[in-house]
Amino acid sequence: MRFEKWGIALFGRESRFAEKIRIFDTTLRDGEQTPGVSLTPEKKVLIARKLDELGVDIIEAGFAAASEGERKAIKLITKEKIRAEICSFARGLKDDIDAALKCDVDSVFLVIPASDIQIRSKLQKNREEVLRMVEESVEYAKAHGLIVEFGPEDSTRSDMSFLKQMIKTALSAGADRITPPDTVGILTPERAYQFFSELKTAFPGTVFGVHCHDDFGLAVANTLAALMAGATIAHVTINGLGERAGNAALEEVVIALKLQYNVDIPIRTELLYETSLLVSRLTGVPTQPNKAIIGENAFTHESGIHTHAILVDPSSYEPIPPEIVGRVRRIVVGKHAGIHGIRAALMEMGINPTEEHLKEIFRRVKELGDKGKRVTDADLKAIAEAVMGIPSAQPIRLEELTVITGNRVTPTASVKLNVNNRVIVEAATGVGPVDAAMNAIRKAVSAIEPIHLEEYHVKAITGGTDAVVEVIVRLRKGDRIITAMGVHEDIVMASVNAMMSGINVLVDNRSRMSQNSKIVEQDF
Ligand code: MN
Repeated sequence: MRFEKWGIALFGRESRFAEKIRIFDTTLRDGEQTPGVSLTPEKKVLIARKLDELGVDIIEAGFAAASEGERKAIKLITKEKIRAEICSFARGLKDDIDAALKCDVDSVFLVIPASDIQIRSKLQKNREEVLRMVEESVEYAKAHGLIVEFGPEDSTRSDMSFLKQMIKTALSAGADRITPPDTVGILTPERAYQFFSELKTAFPGTVFGVHCHDDFGLAVANTLAALMAGATIAHVTINGLGERAGNAALEEVVIALKLQYNVDIPIRTELLYETSLLVSRLTGVPTQPNKAIIGENAFTHESGIHTHAILVDPSSYEPIPPEIVGRVRRIVVGKHAGIHGIRAALMEMGINPTEEHLKEIFRRVKELGDKGKRVTDADLKAIAEAVMGIPSAQPIRLEELTVITGNRVTPTASVKLNVNNRVIVEAATGVGPVDAAMNAIRKAVSAIEPIHLEEYHVKAITGGTDAVVEVIVRLRKGDRIITAMGVHEDIVMASVNAMMSGINVLVDNRSRMSQNSKIVEQDF
């Protein structure tokens, strides 16, 4: 694939990255410590397999001493045929290291507090006792054949001379790598650069890793600065998951290294998006739409000025070609849409308007947008059909819907759909009446086309229990994603209407596959 390498030098000419930078993924440990997230062993295995396929070097699979379930998960992962090194988190305790050993991991990320605040609050020990703890636990882990990555916790708030003493102790006890975490995310890029430069000078030849948190939104920038100062391992998580504001995001660090700094890093970037979706689905943490690289809007264009230029040459408004991260460009209609964008969106639906018709469609789209209404793909299709006088294609019609719900009944729905004059009857259960109805429709339609519900939003337009409800769905068939809306006083019917109108856009035979993701030659 062809892309620009921007090559911006932030820290002067003398700074350069090491030839080999390793990716240490901690989605399954620090990422799992995201508030509200808890992964079953089976889910952890699915993510570990995907991370291995993606090409990360080290997978921190969990914290073996945390629970029985955690040990089960790590054991399952070490039994998998995974190329990456498998690591467990451990504190400076014999029991923690024993728990990691029982799970048959390759390495431990051995973390012991370095800052006086944490030494006092967490350990109630003095500095000498902490140094002894470092020595004993590193020696113990090494004596049992583990690779030891030592992490002096909260290192960025520690006294530098004590931190160096701690690192020296860990190295003489046999530690293989040193990763001083920025536990509370207080570094800035220039401080990160200075901090790692100082450590590299004090311990030449030592392998350093960087572990940043995003409390100030600087985790990725700090990680890059540390790597530039000579660290060679980047601790990252998919989607930037992690405690509080999260960790440095794998996808951002990797793409910045590759495209901005031209660092060769053997990550299969074309798998980034599907990895992100998998992690988001399994953790239940949605990704903000404007998130770099993997956010829903990262490759979506609405503004008319932009879409026109993009249709001529994508690189005019796209610094990253979507294909290299496994995505496709999307052009959506709306208040800011231009006539070219609307034509492109219609062409994707297999609708080819005349200039005259296009002008009128454009006018009506703007009118809707000015009323503050979100213009979905289904709306655009309906407008075009009305303007062009073509019969509205509704290959799938809802003939009957019955939903049962209550306190002693499993919410159940049955549907009768008319699909090109063929009748399909299906039933399904769900967590509630809406879920049951959507499941029944999907089941019936999947006999013809596999359609996935990617997003579901509901909004009450007025107050009260008789409010008009607006439901917006985002549906996917293959790599094509469309939006549709349903409006009704009954939330079940609003949901079903949105679903039906979206499905009809996706299954319409006039639709052609996306024409906007031209594959360009690969040089990367
Ligand atoms: Mn952390």
